[in-house]
Amino acid sequence: MILITGAAGYIGSHYALNFSEFGLDDIVIFDNLSTGHIDTIEKLQKINPKIQFIKGDLKNKDEISSVFKKFKIDSVIHFAALSQVGESVINPSLYYLNNVVGSINLLNSMVENNVLKIVFSSTAATYGEPKYTPIDENHPQNPINPYGNTKLMIEKIMDDYDKAYNLKSIRLRYFNVIGADEKTRIGEWHDPETHLVPNILKSVFNNSKEFKIFGDDYDTKDGTCIRDYVDVLDLADAHRLALEYLNKYNKTDVFNLGTQEGQSVKEIFNISQEIINQKVNFKVVEKRLGDPKILLANSSKAKEILNWQPKRTTFDSIKNAFKWEKVLNKN
Ligand code: UDP
Repeated sequence: MILITGAAGYIGSHYALNFSEFGLDDIVIFDNLSTGHIDTIEKLQKINPKIQFIKGDLKNKDEISSVFKKFKIDSVIHFAALSQVGESVINPSLYYLNNVVGSINLLNSMVENNVLKIVFSSTAATYGEPKYTPIDENHPQNPINPYGNTKLMIEKIMDDYDKAYNLKSIRLRYFNVIGADEKTRIGEWHDPETHLVPNILKSVFNNSKEFKIFGDDYDTKDGTCIRDYVDVLDLADAHRLALEYLNKYNKTDVFNLGTQEGQSVKEIFNISQEIINQKVNFKVVEKRLGDPKILLANSSKAKEILNWQPKRTTFDSIKNAFKWEKVLNKN
């Protein structure tokens, strides 16, 4: 049985869905529902009635320990985290407590119960300002915000736990994740929403929410920032492959997950407008603090070693995201 933390959230829920659809259905989900949604869990349980859900908080060691006593867990996929860069700058204590202390409680419960395999959601934010591009896994890690710091700290703790307790971890460093379930059962659902694609799409349903481009005088092809957008369903595939790899080789490792293709904010805006099939109002505003002009993954390692191949185009992802946004706006 696998334990998935944070599967009421965006990426975790798509992984739980993917795992279920591959007939791998022995899942227990642990989530405090602080940013995730009970509706998402209920949808997942409808698709896969064998999913068990425990509402609990990683900050409470007893709550997570009891899960290992109650179920026979073989491995853990750890998504649960707060992930808003801006919020982490304003309220770092929340981030260190939730992400770092929460992960320590999880790892300690694992070690105590002799569960020694974990796949961990890390991030391109651990690299900080790129020294070269595309970024490979050996790029120096110098995060520029508390969110990135928390994820790097957890990676380092996992290294030490490997040496001392033989806990093996695969860290997946995500670039910009977009998209939604093709059948619109689940999708991206943050409140407040800070990300590019849902913000463009939401402006269609809410006239007071004019879409804002954060800066158009970067030194890039059209003046707007370039990012590497990867589909959430492709990302789910990568987690499944990472777990297979971990089970087969029992080895700690790290992989970037991106497409190696950079797209600018304006390019994403234009694709979105084409999908929406109407003109979307926007205005260019000040640059957002801490936004590097370009973030591009070298993800050849994941392709070679995990045999991971991202399949969806940005067009596919935004099309699914738009279908999902329509569902959200009906509620
Ligand atoms: N962005 C934007 N308007 C928005 C949200 C994002 O112009 O409403 C830009 C942002 O400055 C960055 C890119 O879109 O260059 C991707 O931002 P997002 O927050 O989606 O992901 P991040 O790169 O911060 O992880």
